[in-house]
Amino acid sequence: MHLRTRVLVTGGAGFLGSHLCERLLEAGHDVLCVDNFFTGAKDNIAHLLGHPHFELMRHDVTFPLYVEVDRIFNLACPASPIHYQQNPVQTTKTSVHGAINMLGLAKRTRARIFHASTSEVYGDPIVHPQQEAYWGNVNPIGPRACYDEGKRCAETLCLDYYRQFGVAVRVGRIFNTYGPRMHPNDGRVVSNFIMQALRDEPITIYGDGRQTRSFCYVDDLIEAMTRFVDLDEDFPGPMNMGNPSEFTIMDLARMVIEMTGSRSELVHRRLPTDDPVQRKPDIALARRKLDWEPRVPLRDGLATTIDYFRGFV
Ligand code: NAD
Ligand code: UDP
Repeated sequence: MHLRTRVLVTGGAGFLGSHLCERLLEAGHDVLCVDNFFTGAKDNIAHLLGHPHFELMRHDVTFPLYVEVDRIFNLACPASPIHYQQNPVQTTKTSVHGAINMLGLAKRTRARIFHASTSEVYGDPIVHPQQEAYWGNVNPIGPRACYDEGKRCAETLCLDYYRQFGVAVRVGRIFNTYGPRMHPNDGRVVSNFIMQALRDEPITIYGDGRQTRSFCYVDDLIEAMTRFVDLDEDFPGPMNMGNPSEFTIMDLARMVIEMTGSRSELVHRRLPTDDPVQRKPDIALARRKLDWEPRVPLRDGLATTIDYFRGFV
């Protein structure tokens, strides 16, 4: 008889996964962190390694996993465009085979499973802000497709395991999230701009910088994920999770320059293929079901993130 909830976190050595492991340990759970260290790092969880209720397993989720658990958070998947495009076939395999393996594990163990989906399922959206009922506008054969379509197929699998086998699924569609432990070289806009600003190097604006994103601080996102998994109502989602405050990429660049006191100039680079023009979550569903909304304004979250990145300059 085990008293603590045994929680599996795949991708637990990554940016979001490491914060989640921390939060779960604080809540008194047993945490099994599974990662193949493709984009994650032991440094992200080094401070947890001595914890009596934390266990680390090197494993690739595209292969079956036999463990006994009560809850699963399936986060394993590279998330930044440069990383997921480095080996696109592996990205699709991680999303799809990884989902099949983790949903199969949930089915056998009767564990509740949170699956980390993404706002990328909306592609380059023509509905704004994006609501869960919107089916999206995704190029199925472009350079982002390995990630977007992989994640869409994983959602299909989640909902089919829910309907066909009664697996307690929770699908969260995560919008751009930032904070400490983002990979400094992952090419995502927040990490790029902060690193460039701290080094007084040119800030690379892709396109004219008028495209928008809505940035959520990591602590807010982790709160939404854990609330969703704790929701006892039979509700698989999908559910948007993110901060609805929308900024242009140019706004972000100016804010980072001002906050770091940087001498960087702005330079323009080619806009990547299929780069979404605008993105902002409608979070009415999360507000209603989870009584949740983000609390950390961009400026405050950036201050903490800038402090973290100073250690890499
Ligand atoms: P990350 O790259 O920091 O973390 C992903 C982790 O998964 C890494 O530790 C990596 O080593 C691991 N991993 C990759 N392939 C694996 C495999 N085959 N087997 C085992 N482990 C594997 O990225 P993140 O930002 O922490 O993203 C975590 C999850 O959240 C991903 O599924 C991502 O798609 C999703 N997500 C993140 C964001 C965001 O803005 N951060 C937005 C939408 C969705
Ligand atoms: N971007 C940019 N300069 C950079 C990195 C990204 O202008 O150095 C832009 C990118 O073109 C996109 C936005 O910032 O419009 C967010 O990019 P990111 O890769 O962080 O996330 P995603 O496109 O997946 O939302």
